[in-house]
Amino acid sequence: MSASADFVVAGAGHNSLITAAYLARAGYEVVVLDARPIPGGGAASEEMLEPGYLIDSCSTGHTLIQTNPLLREDELGLRERYGLAYIEPDPFAHVAFPDGRQLTMWLDLERSCEELERFSRRDADAYRRLIADYDAVKHLFGASRFTPPGFGPSLERMLAEHPDGRRWERRRMMSAWDVVRTEFESPHVQAFMLWQAFQTLVPVDATGSGPLAYSIVFGRQRRGWTLPEGGSGRLTDALVRSIVDDGGSVLCDRTVSRLLLEGGRCVGVETEDGERFRAREGVVSTIHVKHLVEMAPAEAWGEDFLYGVRTYDLGLSGFAVYLATTSPPSFRTPDGARNAVSAGLAGWPQQMLDHGRRLRDGVYDPDPAWLLVATPTLADPSRAPAGHHTVKLLSGQAWRPPAGERGWDELKLRQADRQLERVRAVAEGLEDEAIVARLVKSPEDIERSNRHMIHGTFHGGHRGPGQIGGTRPVPGWGQHRMPIEGLYQTGGTTHPGGSITGAPGRNAAIVALADRNRHLEEVIASPSPTSMRT
Ligand SMILES: Cc1cc2nc3c(=O)[nH]c(=O)nc-3n(C[C@H](O)[C@H](O)[C@H](O)COP(=O)(O)OP(=O)(O)OC[C@H]3O[C@@H](n4cnc5c(N)ncnc54)[C@H](O)[C@@H]3O)c2cc1C
Repeated sequence: MSASADFVVAGAGHNSLITAAYLARAGYEVVVLDARPIPGGGAASEEMLEPGYLIDSCSTGHTLIQTNPLLREDELGLRERYGLAYIEPDPFAHVAFPDGRQLTMWLDLERSCEELERFSRRDADAYRRLIADYDAVKHLFGASRFTPPGFGPSLERMLAEHPDGRRWERRRMMSAWDVVRTEFESPHVQAFMLWQAFQTLVPVDATGSGPLAYSIVFGRQRRGWTLPEGGSGRLTDALVRSIVDDGGSVLCDRTVSRLLLEGGRCVGVETEDGERFRAREGVVSTIHVKHLVEMAPAEAWGEDFLYGVRTYDLGLSGFAVYLATTSPPSFRTPDGARNAVSAGLAGWPQQMLDHGRRLRDGVYDPDPAWLLVATPTLADPSRAPAGHHTVKLLSGQAWRPPAGERGWDELKLRQADRQLERVRAVAEGLEDEAIVARLVKSPEDIERSNRHMIHGTFHGGHRGPGQIGGTRPVPGWGQHRMPIEGLYQTGGTTHPGGSITGAPGRNAAIVALADRNRHLEEVIASPSPTSMRT
């Protein structure tokens, strides 16, 4: 089969769907291809365990995308036309520390500070100050995230012109651990702050992770671990409907294996089954850059680009345990049972540092110091049969099992038991009789489910000074235009990286439109192609 469209989009993760949706709204015919049987990549809800239990196979929390103008201004009508709705769970976090003490954080800042005061009055003040400090500059970080590199002033310049800019110039290059140990004295509060900072699996001692100690907890304090009502896949459903209503199509079970080049230009793609999709205007890819470079001859990319991809740091791998249960995990505290949509175990700071270092070195960690226990059904009961729950235990893990193990297949089950035991030590509700079904994904399984998540990494690659802004994925190629003319890149391997932010998707649309002398503002202000046709 051979087909054509204005834009052929390779991969249907939320980012490339966003790019496709803006391009379709601009009147271009788009066709989106994905290797998986369903669209959405890491924004999917699947009945993976038992009918009636809608499991978020990857992302659950959509906090980071809330400030994207796509949702903030509802630029494509995903909320108004397609019914996308979000829940802001309260409390926004509950963690248990290694000594059994626990901490609950609430959307009411003062209530959170009262909790922190149980550990240190000084740290409660420091927390108020940290939230206020980020509040003063959040618009600058937001502008840098939601603008393609080079299309607006750099973050450095914006900060230099801000009264607090000098402090932020330093913090941007610090590590999250350096920020946390400067601001907080109590090991419990430090452990909680590191637990928050590590949510995107960037090691807390990595240069440049400093802002994560501010930005992640700030978003949670403001709007909780924001959940799409009905599951993560609701974002995907809304995007697909928008694309289809604007004349585009989304095709699954299509693995792109080759870029079609003519006269040095990318004019389409070929799938593993030999289908060809030709692009009149351009090809947009969310294929991992490490795979992308294999899809065209080396000379088409150039040595510098290939060097940048060869040295691209994939980041840390993950490990997930999915449960369908008859009760939620309820943490035992002196004040009674507590639970939160986003809960977990937070190791001491030194354990967090050791955990990150082990994973960086590829060393298996039997007891990860960071464990997330996500129970979205606490706030959104529509995802499971009445009174039942879906629970996901998420942790970092080494890509390879340790020497002496035959592979992940057996080890992953023992590892899941071990993690479950650690949760059971502080919480009720996850006893064997409460577990209806269970599925475990090792880093290898995560990669098998989604080839974009190489080695089971799922935030698009490490986020450090060498892989951010104009240097992501490769220095000089941060503007979504790839060395092959007609080829654009989006997704987690482009600025500002992975997670559900939608930023790479919207930014790529801005660039592709600009190359056609079009502006995103003009596109969203004009009537949709559908309304023009009817
Ligand atoms: C267990 C787990 C929990 C997570 N929890 C959260 C969370 O709570 N909050 C959060 O913000 N993030 C979370 N993440 C991370 C988040 O899911 C990803 O960072 C995000 O989905 C990246 O989006 P993307 O659009 O860049 O790409 P992806 O979502 O990875 O989509 C890429 C798509 O491209 C397709 N593709 C790749 N190569 C090809 C090819 N050759 N041909 C055709 N199609 C191809 C893939 O099949 C996939 O559908 C989690 C991830 C995992 C695995």
